Amino acid sequence: MREQQLRLADDRTARVAGREMRVEAVSKKFGQAVAVDDVTLGISAGEFVSLLGPSGSGKSTLLMIIAGFEQPDSGELFLGGERLTDIPPHRRNFGHVFQKYALFPHMTAAENIAFPLKMRGIEKAKRGPMVANALERMRLSALGERLPHQLSGGQQQRVALARAIVFQPALLLMDEPLGALDKKLREEMQIEIKQIQRELGITVVFVTHDQDEALSLSDRVAVINQGGLSQFATPRELYDRPSSRFVADFVGDNN
Ligand code: ADP
Ligand code: MG
Repeated sequence: MREQQLRLADDRTARVAGREMRVEAVSKKFGQAVAVDDVTLGISAGEFVSLLGPSGSGKSTLLMIIAGFEQPDSGELFLGGERLTDIPPHRRNFGHVFQKYALFPHMTAAENIAFPLKMRGIEKAKRGPMVANALERMRLSALGERLPHQLSGGQQQRVALARAIVFQPALLLMDEPLGALDKKLREEMQIEIKQIQRELGITVVFVTHDQDEALSLSDRVAVINQGGLSQFATPRELYDRPSSRFVADFVGDNN
């Protein structure tokens, strides 16, 4: 039994090592203002990592750099050893969910979910089953023909999530995806996101300014302060051994 467990652990390490996302010494300024300040992070395959920090600390900019929508002034990105820095966003094969759902208003839920498959040149016969599968996974099977305005906020966000995972992305990037939802719905969606992440074994980078959200969802949390990485650790480590006064105050703050 013990042997088998060790072998499983080894196997997992091998897979994890193969697809690590590395952010190396990334910096970005807007004019004179430093948005991201020399951030280095290694995110393992299958890991759920939150970028946690106050408003204006540079979380979204860092996520946009990972997504490829912003270019860093300096530093590099790697996925499983492959250099990503010059690869355009659509070729990185990452899923995105941002706070504004940004569904195409004139397309049905199913058409929205099919869109990234179309963009990737996946033939129509294959798209149907993939969309049906994503709809089912998000408990949206009965709502595929609805337009976004015929869906609730939570349902729209589930469509956005289905659209982000339908092409089995290498990485799922989320920027305050639940910020517009009320508390109850937010908590339901947190559970749903976590469940999907586990089922698909997908790597997630999740931006939030909400300590509770970061601590309850994440394998590790990157605490960001004024563009810089203050601490990158498990929720327990952040609680037990905060590396600075800032981390202790920010993580401990339950407002
Ligand atoms: P967060 O997501 O943590 O709230 P942001 O990454 O949005 O932080 O912003 C970090 C800093 O960079 C802020 O000072 C913000 O005003 C600035 N900033 C972000 N995007 C731009 C932009 N496109 N142009 C100019 N300044 C920006
Ligand atoms: Mg932001």
